[in-house]
Amino acid sequence: MYRKILKIITVLFMALVIIVPVTVKKLPAMNEKYAMAEELENNVLQNYVRASALAKEKKNPDDILKSTDNQDGDLKIELPASVGKSKQDISVETDYLTQTVYVKLKTEEENYFTNYSITGNSDYIDSMQYYKNDGAGVIAITTDKLYEIKYLLKNGSLYIKFVDLHDIYDKVVVIDAGHGSRMSGAVRNGVYEKDINLDIVLALKNLLDDYSGDKKIGVFYTRTTDVNPTLQQRAALANKADADLFISVHCNSYETGNFTAIHGTQVLYSQSDDRKLGSKRLAQICMDNVTKETGSSAFGLLEADNIYIIRTSNAPVALVEAGYMTNREELDNLTNPDYQKKMAQGIYNAIMQAFDEGY
Ligand SMILES: [Zn+2]
Repeated sequence: MYRKILKIITVLFMALVIIVPVTVKKLPAMNEKYAMAEELENNVLQNYVRASALAKEKKNPDDILKSTDNQDGDLKIELPASVGKSKQDISVETDYLTQTVYVKLKTEEENYFTNYSITGNSDYIDSMQYYKNDGAGVIAITTDKLYEIKYLLKNGSLYIKFVDLHDIYDKVVVIDAGHGSRMSGAVRNGVYEKDINLDIVLALKNLLDDYSGDKKIGVFYTRTTDVNPTLQQRAALANKADADLFISVHCNSYETGNFTAIHGTQVLYSQSDDRKLGSKRLAQICMDNVTKETGSSAFGLLEADNIYIIRTSNAPVALVEAGYMTNREELDNLTNPDYQKKMAQGIYNAIMQAFDEGY
């Protein structure tokens, strides 16, 4: 593997608030094909990380870094003596949404990059920064794609391996619950679309977490709480994960916002995706399975390259408009947990059918 001196970009005086989305259970347990040692661990994942960043000083990377042969991992991070001995002193977390790996050390170094070396393969890395946060030192590594991280603590250094998702999973799926936080989406009778979308996605997550079929499926969610990733972040997650499927969940609303008789499930797709197993076929599979499970009527498929996440997705993408919030009966259904579970089951079945068809 090609090795070169790692280039480092430090970001000065940058205050940063980072929200880390919940991650997914691995389905099922991954092969330990990269078993580097018994200390090898999967990354620790948290729902939220709040980090304020304050990087202190910039140095010429050539002064800081040494090129060494690194046989143990893709990246070797030299650790301060006070934290290099126990893995209790270190955590490694990945923010999937921003493809950033946070190495947290229970020590505050004034300037980490000046005093310690990072060597190895920089091909995976877009940028790095170091900052102090609440008694801890944080090395933030933003990668060029989404990887699963494996790491090893050995001889006072942390070895990090960036593992391609498709080396771990047979299939990679990205699920998006539309809107979130202050962006409520459609609102009707005090019901926010963002909450229905999330309820359906969380019900879907339960099903995917329990998947016990013969495929290893990695599922990544743009959100599992009431937060609002940007459209760019949502699409980037699918693209940087090299997703096999990208499914977004929304609810419809008649344009006047008034209650009407119009109801049914609509699925949006990319008309510029002319692959046989592309967006349109995926949309049809979603429509078939959702209407079958829920009994909702098929309102039809809709060309939707005008929608950012559809237009920019490399993966086959379908945006499921579960139903109309401006239809009284359908609004009752959409807020009913049993109906939401059926909706989730329909999308789940669609995912499975898509895989059966070769997606
Ligand atoms: Zn929406």
